[in-house]
Amino acid sequence: MKMVMCREATRLMSKRLDSPLGIQEKMTLTFHLAMCGACKQCNKQFQLMHDAGRALESQATIPSSDTDDDTNDTP
Ligand SMILES: [Zn+2]
Repeated sequence: MKMVMCREATRLMSKRLDSPLGIQEKMTLTFHLAMCGACKQCNKQFQLMHDAGRALESQATIPSSDTDDDTNDTP
């Protein structure tokens, strides 16, 4: 397997947020993350950003009609 640069790994990380990676890309990224601590950290950040974005998205798309008495009490 060929060694990929951090730059390429980062590109795959951000690409993964938009669309699922192909098997080859996935392997390339996983392999790089396994031996590059810097990219591992970077990947964590990407994941956090992605999760935060998704949370906001799902909150925004919840229909407001049937959340009347359930959401009021929970902090
Ligand atoms: Zn790297």
